Amino acid sequence: MAKDEANASDFCKGLLQSEELYEYILETSVYPREPELLKELRNITLNHPKALMATAPDAGQFIGMLLNLVNAKNTIEVGVYTGYSLLLTALTIPEDGKVIAIDVNRDFYDIGLPVIKKAGVEHKIDFRESKALPLLDELLTNKANEGGFDFAFVDADKLNYWNYHERLMRLIKVGGIIVYDNTLWGGSVVKPDSSVPEWMIQVKKATLELNKKLSADERLQISQAVFGDGITICRRLY
Ligand code: SAM
Ligand code: CA
Repeated sequence: MAKDEANASDFCKGLLQSEELYEYILETSVYPREPELLKELRNITLNHPKALMATAPDAGQFIGMLLNLVNAKNTIEVGVYTGYSLLLTALTIPEDGKVIAIDVNRDFYDIGLPVIKKAGVEHKIDFRESKALPLLDELLTNKANEGGFDFAFVDADKLNYWNYHERLMRLIKVGGIIVYDNTLWGGSVVKPDSSVPEWMIQVKKATLELNKKLSADERLQISQAVFGDGITICRRLY
């Protein structure tokens, strides 16, 4: 197997000691409790050429718990793809909750939309086809949006995470949560560049930088957790 292929396959495996252990967690604790329509969306997505982009179901389950713990009502989703994390958010927030869902590509969203409609939660979703940065800036032009959100899940355009962070720190209320996905970037953060596939290097560097900055950000309580490809949970303290 070529070096790049070997590393790409590592990337899909999750970050535990073995694939078997990851399967064990999924089969024991995640899949039995995964809502049927989320399962349906996950299975539809499996056949898509970019299926690797979908949020890992174990990470999804944890995000659902966080949403409940902070009683999230208004949320922001940066990076929708076919909508796994979006659907789980829409299923979790209350009837009058709203998720602003941002993605540059509406075609991906349209793949999952029939399932979202079937779940009866489309009315909670405000989908915006846009790059995330200008959209977050647009939200900030309305003073009422400052501190107006309880939760954000960031899973797009890794090179811009820190730029999103500065905006989200104004949009999320004190006590609210921002979750960043892929903060271990396939484990590459501890590998020498020579053993990391070329396509992962730039994001590896950005991720190392982000992790350092999040750790140093005194406005936050943080926890970096080994779900999926690594997620960092940030709670705004002030
Ligand atoms: N959270 C999603 C899920 O549960 O399936 C996965 C998101 S996927 C990893 C990343 C998505 O970000 C893609 O759908 C891509 O079109 C979108 N994207 C890429 N660059 C973007 C940008 N600058 N602004 C907004 N969305 C972007
Ligand atoms: Ca991701």
